[in-house]
Amino acid sequence: MKLQLKNISKVYENGFTAVKDFNLNVEDKEFIVFVGPSGCGKTTTLRMIAGLEEISSGELKIDGEIMNNVLSKNRDVAMVFQNYALYPHMSVYDNIAFGMKIRKLPKAEIDCKVKEVANILNIYDLLDRKPKTLSGGQRQRVAMGRAIVREPKVFLMDEPLSNLDAKLRIQMRTEIAKIYHRLQATIVYVTHDQTEAMTLGTRIVVMKEGVIQQVDTPQRLYHHP
Ligand code: ADP
Ligand code: ADP
Repeated sequence: MKLQLKNISKVYENGFTAVKDFNLNVEDKEFIVFVGPSGCGKTTTLRMIAGLEEISSGELKIDGEIMNNVLSKNRDVAMVFQNYALYPHMSVYDNIAFGMKIRKLPKAEIDCKVKEVANILNIYDLLDRKPKTLSGGQRQRVAMGRAIVREPKVFLMDEPLSNLDAKLRIQMRTEIAKIYHRLQATIVYVTHDQTEAMTLGTRIVVMKEGVIQQVDTPQRLYHHP
């Protein structure tokens, strides 16, 4: 699914401009990475795409449709947060199944989808466990499972690996690349880790103080930083 961000700005209620004149066209099935130091506006931009944050000015189109209003119709967008946001009292199975249960999908279909996702993410053996009994890496997989089970056309990830240790981060990077190939979705991925950006992104958006500095492929950024 295509994303078009035209002159998008975000001014928070306290008057602070977190994002200024952000322009970007994302093609279907691209893996876009927003990179830049803490506070440069990456999360704010992602949350505007997700419909979790009002856009102060500019225009957001998802698949050609204007989606400026957070209340405008459901967008086919799933987001994975840095802190995972799992339901602590529910099993892994129910965490992944939750959205489908709300939508009252048939049990057999839910079961099939939960198990398929669990296989992809290597968490099949954890389906009965509660989040608090899992490691950080396992929780991260569950959070991703809950998002990808919806088969979103747009998949947003906000520093999904930042709470993991270095070894696990490298392992999960490979997993995310696999998921990308399998999902065939458009991905927007936020990180402050340059290596992560360079290995995962088809294009990288370098941000600084709310403004885009550069947009390019990893190859070209590497040779002309
Ligand atoms: P990043 O994801 O790149 O770390 P953010 O998008 O989270 O950056 O934040 C960009 C800037 O906006 C930061 O300076 C942050 O302090 C500020 N900011 C974030 N949320 C709010 C808010 N609700 N009100 C005011 N300022 C905010
Ligand atoms: P309910 O909505 O009645 O609480 P559950 O979500 O517990 O139902 O279970 C629905 C179906 O999902 C069950 O028939 C079972 O096949 C499957 N299921 C539930 N938990 C697990 C699990 N941990 N591992 C494998 N399958 C499970």
